[in-house]
Amino acid sequence: MTAAELARTPVAVNVFCAADFFRGLSLPERVDRALGANVRAADARCPCAEVHSFRLFEEPAVSLAEVPPSELAAATDALGRLDRLSIHGPLRNALISRKAAKRERLAREYRFAIEQAAHFGASCVVVHFSPWSARTEESRLAGVTLLRELGDFALARGVRLGVENGGCTASVRGGGQSLEDFVELIASLDHPAVGATVDTGHLVGWLTAEQQARPAAAELYNNLLAQLLKELHAYGKLFHVHLNDVDPQTFGDHYGPGFGLVDFRRAFEPLCRSGYDGLLAIEMHRGSCAETGSLTPAEFECAVRYAQSCWAEAERAGGKG
Ligand SMILES: [Zn+2]
Ligand SMILES: [Zn+2]
Repeated sequence: MTAAELARTPVAVNVFCAADFFRGLSLPERVDRALGANVRAADARCPCAEVHSFRLFEEPAVSLAEVPPSELAAATDALGRLDRLSIHGPLRNALISRKAAKRERLAREYRFAIEQAAHFGASCVVVHFSPWSARTEESRLAGVTLLRELGDFALARGVRLGVENGGCTASVRGGGQSLEDFVELIASLDHPAVGATVDTGHLVGWLTAEQQARPAAAELYNNLLAQLLKELHAYGKLFHVHLNDVDPQTFGDHYGPGFGLVDFRRAFEPLCRSGYDGLLAIEMHRGSCAETGSLTPAEFECAVRYAQSCWAEAERAGGKG
């Protein structure tokens, strides 16, 4: 396959999360670097904003109307050089906070992210929402109501929200108590603009320590991933995918695709077959955020090529034929 053909796969890269590869660069430079690595799509805004301190716009803008026109024009120009885009929303799980003011502050940030998605033509805004950690039933319900309202806001702007499995803190890796909980959450939200983002590395919390130690742990993990993708897709709720690998020794996530136990080709096959139209956005920083700084450009490009060729192979293996 030629590089141009590989670049046409839905593989994207999170230009703010592969911090080692993009560290210290401006937005246009980040886009250049992604294009230079043969990637034509990106996940923008920082999923680790609080950690890596890079934002699309300077604070304290909370709507596009507050962003200085020159800054907005520069961002529009830079992101416009990519074929496709998605936006990662804020990281905090505060939609279920007991404090109404905290919930509203986060909802406002999400509305800003949705506005950005509509403006830049991004297909999806990734949402971190874990109702299982709500302190009270009242705050859990308030969070669900707020998420549905954000869904209405997104729907009116042609944007979709993808709630991420395990997208909050390490303590809720997996996203709920089980795979069934997560699928049930997405189904019960029952909103046309609200679906799921599957992070391929965030299923680690769904395996017990005893299961992780088994020789067949990788197979178990890949079975779970296949089941998760299949069930969400059957509901028509698979909106977006985050690609990263899991280290088979430590079960740490966010390793580059190809550096761990995840069987990407197997995961991609049913998506190819059923015409998955979302992106596959690589989020890699070699293990935990604490380890960032060690990722080399060669490793980054190797992971990109690997993910692209897995998709191409999955297509050849029956996805399209
Ligand atoms: Zn996330
Ligand atoms: Zn993710």
